[in-house]
Amino acid sequence: MIQESFLMAGMRNKLVEYLRTKGITDEKVLDAIGKVPRHLFMDLSLERVAYEDRAIEILCNQTISQPSTVAFQTQLLDIQYREKILEIGTGSGYQTAVLYKLSTRVYTIERMKPLYDAALKIFEKLNIHPNCFYADGYKGLPGFAPFDKILVTCGAPSIPQDLLNQLKIGGYMVIPVGDTKHTMHRITKVSETETKIETFGEYKFVPMLKDRQR
Ligand code: SAH
Repeated sequence: MIQESFLMAGMRNKLVEYLRTKGITDEKVLDAIGKVPRHLFMDLSLERVAYEDRAIEILCNQTISQPSTVAFQTQLLDIQYREKILEIGTGSGYQTAVLYKLSTRVYTIERMKPLYDAALKIFEKLNIHPNCFYADGYKGLPGFAPFDKILVTCGAPSIPQDLLNQLKIGGYMVIPVGDTKHTMHRITKVSETETKIETFGEYKFVPMLKDRQR
C-alpha cells in the first residue's frame, strides 16, 4: 500500500465527483479512477495539479490524457470482469493502471524506451502487474490475440487493420482517428469482415507513430 497524503486522496475524490458531472456513469470506472494515484505518474513538481481535468506533460514530449478522456475511453470499452485488453501507448502508465484496477488482464505497448522503462518502475512501486511490451503498437501482439477490447491512447491517422484482426468478434476497439484533430471511434467487430463504427466527438491526442524509438 502506497502512503499518500489526505490532500491527494481528497483531490482524487473531488475528481471522481467532477467526472460524474461530465457524464461518466460507469461506477466501476469511477471506482478505478478513485483508486489510482495519478500524481505518482508525473513529475513531483506537478503533483498539485494532478487531479485537475487537464493533460499533463510526461517524458519524451508525450502527455497523460486528461482524466475525463481516460474515463470516457474506458467507459466506452464497457469492460467486464477478467477481460483481455490491449492498450496501445503505455505512456505514463496511468491508463494502464486504471484498466488493471478494473480487474482486467492488461497488455500494453509503448514505442519509446524511456517511457516504457519509467512505466515498469511505477507498476512495480504500485505492485500491479500488467503485461508490458516495448514495441510498435501498429503491429499489436499477434501472439497474445484475440483481445476482448483494444484501447488506443494516441491519435491514429486511420484504423490499423492489424489491430482489427486481433480483436474478438463482438469486441470493441476504442481509437481516436484523424490527423491534427481526432474523432473518437468505437468500432465493434461484427464478423470477420464487418464492423460497426460509432463516433463520439473531437479530441486532441499525441500522434500514433510507427516503429520503436530509443
Ligand atoms: N495511456 C497513456 C497516454 C500516453 S500518450 C497515459 O495514460 O499516460 C500516448 C502514448 O502513445 C505515448 O507515450 C506515445 O509514445 C505512444 N505511442 C505512439 N505511437 C505508438 C505506437 N505505434 N506504438 C506504441 N505506442 C505508441
